[in-house]
Amino acid sequence: MATKKAEKEARELTVEEKLRLLFKLQTVSTEIDRIRNLRGELPLEVQDMEDELAGKQTRLDKIAEETAHMKAALTKFQHEIETAQAEIERDQERQNNVHNSREYDDLNKQIEYSGLVIEAAKKHINDINESLQAKAQDKEETQTLIANRKEDLEAKKAELQTIIAETKADEDKLRAESNAIEEQFNDDYLLTAFRRIRKNARNGLAVVTIDRDACGGCFNKIPAQRQLDIRQRKKVIVCEYCGRILVDKELHDEVLGIAPEKAAEEPKAEKKTRKKAAAK
Ligand SMILES: [Zn+2]
Repeated sequence: MATKKAEKEARELTVEEKLRLLFKLQTVSTEIDRIRNLRGELPLEVQDMEDELAGKQTRLDKIAEETAHMKAALTKFQHEIETAQAEIERDQERQNNVHNSREYDDLNKQIEYSGLVIEAAKKHINDINESLQAKAQDKEETQTLIANRKEDLEAKKAELQTIIAETKADEDKLRAESNAIEEQFNDDYLLTAFRRIRKNARNGLAVVTIDRDACGGCFNKIPAQRQLDIRQRKKVIVCEYCGRILVDKELHDEVLGIAPEKAAEEPKAEKKTRKKAAAK
């Protein structure tokens, strides 16, 4: 580590060299962004589906728990009926041996009461049986849903794996390039600034060119004197509106290996087509 640092500090890069490296780093980073965008919402979608499945599984557990409670209540009410039934039989038996009509009436009231207990318990049992049926249906529907979602999830996962596999080699190569550039860069302060601007900027652009006298990031006009300073490449100049690092169009073309005359021709051709289109 120490030797690497010493190596880095061996020769201070010129501002122009730093700008070239930063622009290269920007190009590589943009390409990495593009690959990640290909995966798009898939990783999130997979996550959402996994969360949904976990939610359905919790629901299934809850149904099982509620069903067990209901079955316990069912047993309780059935027991109540049996007990009341036995009491009625006992009281009816007693009625055969009463000494007076008051005793007989009291037993009658007792029997009536037991009858009400049985009626109430039967109603509870009916209600519980209905709820149990609903729960059973809910369980079946939830199980079907889980099975379907599991299939969807597997398909999505496979799709994501395919895209990752297809782009992994490219991404690894770009990451290696990006690391190599950062290795060469011996201005940690500027590198940190680059990363910060990139993180905050729309489209991840931290280094932009001047395009038609305007900042390539926010499209605000750049004064002629400032453009001249940028072309000098003697200091790092940022856009006063958006804070992005500005490089001149020539540096952009040189780094990307675009021939100057070809670069100059392109906008003309574009204008011609546009005029033609407007004429039609
Ligand atoms: Zn700007």
